[in-house]
Amino acid sequence: MKPPALVDTHNHLLFGALGEDPEGAWRRARLAGVTRALLIAVDASSSRQTVDFAAGREGLFASVAIDPNSIHDVAEGDWEQVVALAQDEKVVAIGETGLDLYWKKSPLDLQLAWFEKHVELALVRDLPLVLHIRDAFPEARDLLSRYAGRGLRAVLHCFGGQAEDIHPFVEWGFMVSFAGNLTYPSAGALREAARATPLAQCLIETDAPWLAPVPQRGKTNEPAFLVHTARELAEIKQLDYEQLAEVTTANACRFFRFESSR
Ligand SMILES: [Zn+2]
Repeated sequence: MKPPALVDTHNHLLFGALGEDPEGAWRRARLAGVTRALLIAVDASSSRQTVDFAAGREGLFASVAIDPNSIHDVAEGDWEQVVALAQDEKVVAIGETGLDLYWKKSPLDLQLAWFEKHVELALVRDLPLVLHIRDAFPEARDLLSRYAGRGLRAVLHCFGGQAEDIHPFVEWGFMVSFAGNLTYPSAGALREAARATPLAQCLIETDAPWLAPVPQRGKTNEPAFLVHTARELAEIKQLDYEQLAEVTTANACRFFRFESSR
């Protein structure tokens, strides 16, 4: 019997050990039921690579950006490359982008300026934003509140906050994406946040090669391991695995408009 279809809404298939055999990882993912995956870039060169890899491969899509931990490293022409790539038919989102005050590789002012460029690009291209927000929910809220009424669509990727951190993002209609850390024994507050997130706004992701879910924790994460996070979220939402798969897959298809892109 075919496993229910899942969408890995955020991974880095070409990064680290996972990038040594992305074809193999993608094959194993499809066997596990992961029928679509969104490959996320963090700088100009990974934007180019994700678009190239997704090209001609059914079920693979790309998201382009320069993330807050890479902006200290930008070269001339990098942003223009990202803007040009955003027109590619395989690009279904802008990201990851946002604010990271945990690593804080660049000062907040600079991070805000780059974040804003990505928000504007998402609006111009009518694409959703993939948000990376770490230790910076109030700062992100301030910036995004200026755009929330302008039709901005966004997902809080690898959400790791508390139930109160999802506001007002959820009120603005943003999606919340849960990763492998949802399965960790210490994730009580995160599971509480997942319980509080409306089902219609829930997505799942691996963030591979990082954050492998229990029982694969400690290994190089890969899209096939999405099933463990799906199972955990199903339990939290008191649904069958099949129901959870169906709803999160429908959410992802609607949000990223998969039907209308190849
Ligand atoms: Zn990521």
